[in-house]
Amino acid sequence: MFSTMQDGNLSIATLLRHGAKVHATAEVTTWTGTGGRSATFAEVGVEAARLANALRGLGVTGDQRVGTFMWNNQEHLTAYLAVPAMGAVLHTLNVRLFPEQLTYIVNHAEDHAIIVDASIAPLLSKILPGCPTVQHVIVANGPVEALTAPEHVTVHSYADLLASASSDFDWPDVDERAAAAMCYTSGTTGNPKGVVYSHRSIWLHSMQVCMPDGMQISSSDRTLVIVPQFHAMSWGIPYAAFMTGASLVMPDRFLQPEPLAQMIATLKPTQSAAVPTIWQGVLAYLDQNPADLSSLREVVVGGAACPPAMMHAFSEKYGLYIVHAWGMTETSPLGTLSRPPAGISEDETWRYRYTQGRLPAGVTARLIGEDGQEVPWDGESVGELEVRGPWIAGAYYKPEPEDAAKFVDGWLRTGDVGTLTPDGFLTLTDRSKDIIKSGGEWISSVELENHVMAHPSVAEAAVVGIPDPKWDERPLVAVVLRPGASATAAELRDFLDPKVAKWQLPENWTFVEEVPKTSVGKFDKKVIRAAHAQGKLD
Ligand code: ADP
Repeated sequence: MFSTMQDGNLSIATLLRHGAKVHATAEVTTWTGTGGRSATFAEVGVEAARLANALRGLGVTGDQRVGTFMWNNQEHLTAYLAVPAMGAVLHTLNVRLFPEQLTYIVNHAEDHAIIVDASIAPLLSKILPGCPTVQHVIVANGPVEALTAPEHVTVHSYADLLASASSDFDWPDVDERAAAAMCYTSGTTGNPKGVVYSHRSIWLHSMQVCMPDGMQISSSDRTLVIVPQFHAMSWGIPYAAFMTGASLVMPDRFLQPEPLAQMIATLKPTQSAAVPTIWQGVLAYLDQNPADLSSLREVVVGGAACPPAMMHAFSEKYGLYIVHAWGMTETSPLGTLSRPPAGISEDETWRYRYTQGRLPAGVTARLIGEDGQEVPWDGESVGELEVRGPWIAGAYYKPEPEDAAKFVDGWLRTGDVGTLTPDGFLTLTDRSKDIIKSGGEWISSVELENHVMAHPSVAEAAVVGIPDPKWDERPLVAVVLRPGASATAAELRDFLDPKVAKWQLPENWTFVEEVPKTSVGKFDKKVIRAAHAQGKLD
């Protein structure tokens, strides 16, 4: 028997129409370096219609891919809405990738058109000669001359193109299972992998982002979206904002601690989201240059393990509440988010907050042990996390043979290793490729990092496994000291001594200026391992 309920596609066009009408006065504000330029959601709705008309005019039809090579700003938000709503597929390009990776991604997705911010047009110019499918590039926020294009590419000005386009667009009724957007993971091994989100998966994910046990994004919020729109769809925040009417603050290219602190003090966002390294930078900056963060009710930190010491420092010094979350490009990305249950002691509350968080109804999980069997959710048994659900990838776009191993019986193998409590709180100890295997036992690099980063002289610490003739592998700690602070390896080892088992205590330490980071700001452990192998770390 079927239900008696109405049916309707959960589409981006529905979100766009809703946000532009019901939340017409909500705003997107883009930082210009000295202040903000703002547009209402009603104005963004009109701009989206103009962009869709302009793209149709350039021959974008069906599910053709439209790439974006942009910072977080109003124009990128417009593309987020217009491209999927017109039935085409938005393809966010990570502006920090190496040219070879970008060329691979553009060609793999077969992008037809690309919208680019003038400030980074020279980076795109480098790869266009190797991208034969790209016929049009639209330059936003600056002169078209910023781009040098090969003969097969026609260059347009975003402003001129939109000025001459109609402000009415008849948004098609797109099947909710059709592709809406795609994003490539930065590809730690082999080629980058494409994840294709559907209209439905984005809708359902947006609802979870807004839930009380999600990011709680509501019409009372003004959200500072630091996580790039090219990194896992900005964690779904732009769509969640159009769903609920939360205003948005977009930092554009100003992602350094100083302008971020300035944005917070002047534009007074209520909520924000970014990877831990961004907040570590902000914290270090604030220690020298105090600023008013009181508008922020909370910030979501994920993408890499959030060091407990940083959570405490923000809480104690600035009254700032950090919410820890876990996710992947493949999981849209919200996988878990940590909101402690009510009625527990402060100590217990902190223990919950350290975890990567609790599974929402849309994410089903299991842990698989080394013997391939499920391990219990007892908070102690360790296994690889596998997940499934309506906003979890079931395959990669145009998969390669080796990709099959990532998807087993309808489950996504996350490559993340950890534990689950009986009430569904996840604690990750490592990525499987970063686990340190010492004398047949596992050492959690994340646990060691968290302990070292709790030392007052330490700004950042990354731990990797290095080959050892006796134990197979031993931990190497790469430490960045705070400006003006000092600490020796022996002191740091003594500091760790009471916190970890004796056999886990690292004997290899190296002091570095900076921990190498990936294109999305995470510790790049393969670069640290390679530097060590080449004798570049003492
Ligand atoms: P990339 O693989 O390029 O880093 P993603 O952003 O998709 O791209 O990375 C997802 C991975 O990031 C997860 O599989 C996990 O290893 C790591 N990660 C995300 N959030 C957390 C977290 N809160 N704690 C620990 N690791 C995390």
